[in-house]
Amino acid sequence: MICVLSGGTGGAKFVDGLRQVMPAEQITLIVNTGDDLLWWGLYVSPDIDSITYVLSGMLSRERGWGVKGDTFLCLQAMGQLGEPTWFHTGDRDLAMHLLRSRLLAEGKTLSDATAVISEKLGVKARVLPMSDSRVETRIDTPIGELSFEEYFVQRWYQDPVNSVRFAGASDAEPAPGVIDAIEAADAVIIAPSNPITSIGPILAVPGIRETLLRCRGKVAAISPIVGSAPVAGPAGILMAAQGLPCSIVGVAHAYEDFIDILVCDHRDTRAAELLRANGLTVHCTQTIMRTAEDKAALARDVLGYVSRSPHDERPARGSAFRRLDQQP
Ligand code: GDP
Repeated sequence: MICVLSGGTGGAKFVDGLRQVMPAEQITLIVNTGDDLLWWGLYVSPDIDSITYVLSGMLSRERGWGVKGDTFLCLQAMGQLGEPTWFHTGDRDLAMHLLRSRLLAEGKTLSDATAVISEKLGVKARVLPMSDSRVETRIDTPIGELSFEEYFVQRWYQDPVNSVRFAGASDAEPAPGVIDAIEAADAVIIAPSNPITSIGPILAVPGIRETLLRCRGKVAAISPIVGSAPVAGPAGILMAAQGLPCSIVGVAHAYEDFIDILVCDHRDTRAAELLRANGLTVHCTQTIMRTAEDKAALARDVLGYVSRSPHDERPARGSAFRRLDQQP
């Protein structure tokens, strides 16, 4: 059993690889819901949508979000009615938001709604929201606090970022099955997702980080940063705002108390040496996923790393590379 913590885009690419190389029934996804928003009165959960679409074979690989071959007639019509159109929802994509919103209005939890939709779409992996409580990623900028989608989609992440917080996290509980999935997993994989706004909200839900610290399976993280830049998106800016360097060292720091293994790109061989010298197991491979083969190869590599050396060989979690702080 493999448990994957994931956001939307980078996470979906990795999951696309994983489903090619292992039975989907053996995968549990714990997905960020910090980006969720009410759009035209509908409850949209962008990362759950992307993961559900990739697992059901519906994801538009060109766009990296939404349904392949979708049309945007409703978006056009809403624009004609003077409604906001900055968040693009395709016509078929809307069906997902309509159904989820109806299920929530009937009193179902987000976990229940996600399970119903997964079943209807033939998704064999288990998709769990990180929490059924509302946790909202809030980005503090000079023009005020923005939701993640306002910052990222509406404003093209052009605003300087002062800080990031996860409103509601301290009162949230992990969704049913989340803690059990981490505890039962033979390995936990942190997808190459944004460490601050995709994995950060998951870790902010009380109990999840603690479970990662004591779980029996190996915990491996794949870096979304290659060299000194994210493969895409604002991860570098957001990491800097949280005091982390935009590098694999910054990624290692974000997860330093619970990871056993960091997977980074061949281009980061030198930085990998620094981390290894500080006691972290680091594997370098090709982490840029362009084709279906790239995705499968990365998934296969990561499964190999987490199954390789025996679990009890590793140093106690968190003790290995706190010393990074002492580096010049
Ligand atoms: P979001 O919810 O859309 O922000 O999705 P994620 O957090 O899952 O994905 C965004 C992250 O994926 C960014 O930080 C990218 O750097 C990373 N990413 C996207 N494509 C790739 C890839 O091919 N390889 C790696 N290593 N990272 C990627």
